[in-house]
Amino acid sequence: METFNLCVLLSLAVAVYCVPISQVTVQDEDFAENYLKNFFNLTEESGPPMRRGISPVSRKLSEMQRFFGLQITGTLDADTMAMMKKPRCGVPDVKIARFSTFGNDFKWKKNSLTFRIENYTPDMPVSEVDDSIEKALQVWAKVTPLRFTRIYSGTADIMISFGGRSHGDIYPFDGPNGILAHAFAPGRDLGGDAHFDEDETFTFRSNRGYVLFMVAAHEFGHSLGLTHSNDPGALMFPHYSFGNPDTFVLPRDDVNGIQSLYGPNPQDPSIEEPQPPTTPDACDSTMVLDAVATLRGEMLFFKDRFFWRSYPQSNTPQQSLITNFWPDAPTSINAAYESQQSDKLFVFKGREVWAFSGYDLVSGYPKPISSFGLPKSVKKINAALYDVRSGKTLFFVGDNYYSYDEARKTMDQGFPKRVDQTFSGLTSEVTAAFQYRGFTYIYSGPHMYEYSLRTGRMFRLLGNSYFLRCTNY
Ligand SMILES: [Zn+2]
Ligand SMILES: [Zn+2]
Repeated sequence: METFNLCVLLSLAVAVYCVPISQVTVQDEDFAENYLKNFFNLTEESGPPMRRGISPVSRKLSEMQRFFGLQITGTLDADTMAMMKKPRCGVPDVKIARFSTFGNDFKWKKNSLTFRIENYTPDMPVSEVDDSIEKALQVWAKVTPLRFTRIYSGTADIMISFGGRSHGDIYPFDGPNGILAHAFAPGRDLGGDAHFDEDETFTFRSNRGYVLFMVAAHEFGHSLGLTHSNDPGALMFPHYSFGNPDTFVLPRDDVNGIQSLYGPNPQDPSIEEPQPPTTPDACDSTMVLDAVATLRGEMLFFKDRFFWRSYPQSNTPQQSLITNFWPDAPTSINAAYESQQSDKLFVFKGREVWAFSGYDLVSGYPKPISSFGLPKSVKKINAALYDVRSGKTLFFVGDNYYSYDEARKTMDQGFPKRVDQTFSGLTSEVTAAFQYRGFTYIYSGPHMYEYSLRTGRMFRLLGNSYFLRCTNY
């Protein structure tokens, strides 16, 4: 049953068909084998095909699972299959590290580089392609001494082209989705060049199709000497994520990577430039989580643009971008809870609430939080807690909390009550809350309190890391 739930969840996440662990098909095995050959250096010499379950494939699967922060099983489970189906860059992943580089032999020995756009995609006006490419190069120029000059004939350091399937090198593209683009490390000939899969639909900034700026900015990271990072917030993470060309700021991990090769921008820094965004660290004991909730037996921990997912059977929580799983969800949320009555996940930010069934936004949402019956004066809720035993959801607002009856869909009389009336010893503001295996966990800042909701008795004072384990790679 657990397997089935996980499977539904995953299939919703990536819009691929469901792959229960027990029913991996021959096609899946072939797909997986190809994936490991392409991205994790599985060679013919590594061993016989996976159907016979020989260890080289299993070893490569483990390597891949470690890179993406999945549960390391060494087998082709549903989670791993779903990860393999995500749209991504065609360059191999290889190293399990935050930023990494091709090495000092694969960097440009000059700071002035040329680029040439050899052809155009029919998906977008020429001016938007030019603009996307220009902006994507500027992402890197802003934080390094590198400068880019466009040329219109001859051979540039970075030759940019669109092509489908076989397109003149030995790495043919794969049709729509899957691999979106690839690029070559600095060097002569193909070195530095970036190729985009013409079978994709590229866009300027719409979230229908792939934003060319984001794909190009990632590929140019390779053109300049970076390989993939396993930081899910990094531009150099192998999977595509949506970004707006007008507001994108290069994340800290990528800045550290490119500056390790070329150093900082000597003309820096205009103080108005926004700081590079960082990825929340499970090992940071001062971190204050935005919200915590369960979802079909898993635990979800939200922070900024990210969430960690903790499987019941695994002790390595997986960190991902919220929008990778819930494209319609807000980031930096205030609260979240799972209504087991309606099998929905509710996500709160400001005066609005979003409801998700699996990973799909329920139609009619977002709605105002007053739709629960909360007073109009409530500007935001700090935390939400679903109590399995009573079927009530508690909404924490400042020092008070409200109670909502999930079955009757009405607010209970006699509220708000003061938080410390029910939760003894809890005098500071509640920042997140959830229930797990019969216990109630209330977060206040970086601390977490374990309660029995029935008696109001506090059992333990714990830290963030109690569930959200700190695992250094
Ligand atoms: Zn890449
Ligand atoms: Zn190519």
